[in-house]
Amino acid sequence: MARREARARAGRERVLRPLRTLCPGCGRRMGIRYENRRTVATLQGLVRLRLKIRRCEEVACARHRRPYRPEGEGAIVLPQHEFGLDVMALVGALRYREHRSVPEIHRLLLERGVAVCERTVTNLLDRYDELVATVLDEPRRVALVAQQRVILAIDGLQPDVGHEVLWVIRDCLSGQVLLARSLLSATASDLAALLGEVVSATDVPVAGMVSDGQHSIRLAVQQALPDVPHQLCHFHYLREAARPIFDADRHAKKELKKQLRGIRLIEPRWRDARIPRPRRCAATAPPCARP
Ligand SMILES: [Zn+2]
Repeated sequence: MARREARARAGRERVLRPLRTLCPGCGRRMGIRYENRRTVATLQGLVRLRLKIRRCEEVACARHRRPYRPEGEGAIVLPQHEFGLDVMALVGALRYREHRSVPEIHRLLLERGVAVCERTVTNLLDRYDELVATVLDEPRRVALVAQQRVILAIDGLQPDVGHEVLWVIRDCLSGQVLLARSLLSATASDLAALLGEVVSATDVPVAGMVSDGQHSIRLAVQQALPDVPHQLCHFHYLREAARPIFDADRHAKKELKKQLRGIRLIEPRWRDARIPRPRRCAATAPPCARP
């Protein structure tokens, strides 16, 4: 059923830029040419995505004027979807792991603040089934062969602690999902097997790998694709880099509070001594309300 009232405004905004700056076709620099905006419903609320799109302007290049979208976009939401991958992973986990019915899943999503109707839950379940059944058919394989290389991105979505993790492997050049699996464990050898499956199915050279740098993913890439450059997502990279500064700042705050605790001992002594409060200067004092 069509939405009958305006959608609420997104509470957060995220700006995503492509990590890659050089054209995969000719190696020349790709400038940011325009911006796409989309609003996505996630388990953390509505998010407004501002996506900076790069494009190669070299006329002789095979990728002339073909958009290169931020690699991080596919980790949040699939193309042309309104609900985030985390919502889809939760719907799949509730249906197939906890055997919940559609009305129950609908109620649980509403309790978690996801504005969704029951019919959409059925659609999300269908999309989840399609996602985990993704196979690389012949037309898609031909399209990958035509672009001569793939840049793989791997992300794991775990809606809640204890749930299975939905692992999604995408190609950043075409934006296609190449493989999606729900796994309870995520050891390096499990992930290396998934990467190996994608590499053998595509049969196209892997030019690069993008991930959030999780330890098991690093080991899996080292195992399955030892010679492929591995780029860490800038968001996660900067967050990790800022962690020592945040810890040092928290320590400084704790030390400062220790010093200030001494004021509590001085305050009663000040009251007992009835030391007059300092008076304001007549020029700056507000006019007295009493006559
Ligand atoms: Zn180019």
